[in-house]
Amino acid sequence: MRYRAPRGTTDILPEEQVYWRYVQECASSLAETFGYGRIDTPIFEDTGLFVRTVGEATDIVDKEMYTFEDRGSDQVTLRPEGTAPVCRAYLEHGMHNLPQPVRLYYQISLFRYDRPQAGRYRQFHQFGVEAIGDSDPAVDAEVIELAWRFYERLGLQGLTLALNSIGDKTCRPLYLERLVEYYTPHVEHLCQDCQARIHRNPLRLLDCKQLSCQPYIAEAPVSTESLCDDCREHWGRLTTHLGDLGIAYSVDHRLVRGLDYYSRTVFEILPPEEGSQSTLCGGGRYDGLMEQLGGKPTPGIGFALGIERTILNLKRQGVTVPDQSTTAVAIAHMGEAGGREAVKLAAQLRSAKTSTILLPGQKSLKGQMRHAGSLGARYVVIIGDKEAANGVATVRDLAAAEQREVPLGEVIAAVSQDHSHD
Ligand code: ATP
Ligand code: MG
Repeated sequence: MRYRAPRGTTDILPEEQVYWRYVQECASSLAETFGYGRIDTPIFEDTGLFVRTVGEATDIVDKEMYTFEDRGSDQVTLRPEGTAPVCRAYLEHGMHNLPQPVRLYYQISLFRYDRPQAGRYRQFHQFGVEAIGDSDPAVDAEVIELAWRFYERLGLQGLTLALNSIGDKTCRPLYLERLVEYYTPHVEHLCQDCQARIHRNPLRLLDCKQLSCQPYIAEAPVSTESLCDDCREHWGRLTTHLGDLGIAYSVDHRLVRGLDYYSRTVFEILPPEEGSQSTLCGGGRYDGLMEQLGGKPTPGIGFALGIERTILNLKRQGVTVPDQSTTAVAIAHMGEAGGREAVKLAAQLRSAKTSTILLPGQKSLKGQMRHAGSLGARYVVIIGDKEAANGVATVRDLAAAEQREVPLGEVIAAVSQDHSHD
């Protein structure tokens, strides 16, 4: 029997890691530039946390959660999204006592029983941020700007920012009523999902992907025309800030996001190519979430973006990423005394922070050189019994195709020259 990685999961092999490191370092350093601190929460939580906050009649709760009973009969769920756990931690650690908003970011793996395809997995990774405790539209602008600058720094091009406001608890009920009223005469023409959602979660009718539902979506009343005064003012100030920041957006009336706790601002960032798994980043304001967790009313806004889809787009656009993973030195050795010196020299090089690999000494020198070549090593250091006896080693610079003999004590210096002119 041969095992394979479970369906919808992937192994991230060493040659892929250059992309991961590039994306993750860009994310952390940018978040820290904006004053966000990293938070890590557990991979699993009480199932109720997600059911209560993400809400029923969402894809996540209806069909995507990995939920099981543990050995102590507790219902637990592998984290399907990052916001609810961060909000739980905010309450649990009394972060409302800190200056607000509390700015947090995360880089985590998530689990959803999704239908696997390119850019859609069952275990995947997100970079996300949350700014909790301040309802100022300047904070909305900051969070959107952070997501936007992330892609700018990575070097992705041709992205679009879609923006909408879905109102708050004052104006949304009226909007939902108008929506249900509009849809009711058409109900028998809607897809099965929409028929089921019309009373449970009518907002979701607007982001249905079924072709047959599109004409009804096109004519549906739009939420930005149903905003109360406060929501309209918030929306106006947000769009002004984005203008000041030079961040272009398009208003998308169909943009509602799948999660129940969103209010007012919702946004997505999309790549140039269309497709159902193309959305790179999704976010929004969730002013109602803390109350659902038993906290006092606390505004919040955040986003989450998919790392796999980001990397897919980096490759598609041919963005070159810096390769920091090269082996600097490979040590070829022959004979017993040569082998002993090689092991000691490797230890010295590594403690001088030079990445070093010991080549397979049972092979011929030619075989070891070939091995070093395939590792992409910059230098090969050669030590046989004769060199060991004389206290020297041959240092070969593969890039410059030069070699010279140096005392063993000078090898570190010989391989640590400045290569910035290369
Ligand atoms: P979709 O409509 O594509 O299912 P979603 O609305 O479920 O997306 P969010 O919950 O907003 O996605 O998650 C934010 C981001 O995480 C997405 O924009 C995407 O980049 C990424 N993402 C979501 N689900 C997956 C998945 N199954 N595999 C890989 N990335 C994902
Ligand atoms: Mg989804």
